[in-house]
Amino acid sequence: MSTDCLFCRIVAGEISVDRIYESETVIGFKDINPQAPIHVLFIPRKHIATLNDADAADRAVLGDLLLAARHYAAERGIAEDGFRVAMNCNRDGGQTVFHIHLHMLAGRSLSWPPG
Ligand code: 5GP
Ligand code: ZN
Repeated sequence: MSTDCLFCRIVAGEISVDRIYESETVIGFKDINPQAPIHVLFIPRKHIATLNDADAADRAVLGDLLLAARHYAAERGIAEDGFRVAMNCNRDGGQTVFHIHLHMLAGRSLSWPPG
């Protein structure tokens, strides 16, 4: 837990969000500035600042992020139409919150490549 990390504060419940997914290792909640009709963030409870900071010991939690998205897609009924998951890293990736998070975007046809 990093006290100056926004997402650690969300994990700790100090900042309230509408949790749409919760497991032992991961929580999911709606993005405050949605870029698609469905835009949720899946974050590990453990503080990992960027993907560069993840190591082999984080293998399970990294997998849990993807499986959380997969389960949520099935639950929301968007699995068949499709969705996108993305994780931004550092400046060129457009990362603004330094606690890793998997974006899940769905509910419209998404263009490729992203800008
Ligand atoms: P990044 O740019 O780091 O990949 O994504 C950070 C995301 O976190 C952005 O899409 C932004 O809208 C979202 N975000 C930032 N602050 C908050 C917040 O306080 N609550 C929620 N729900 N989302 C946030
Ligand atoms: Zn954190």
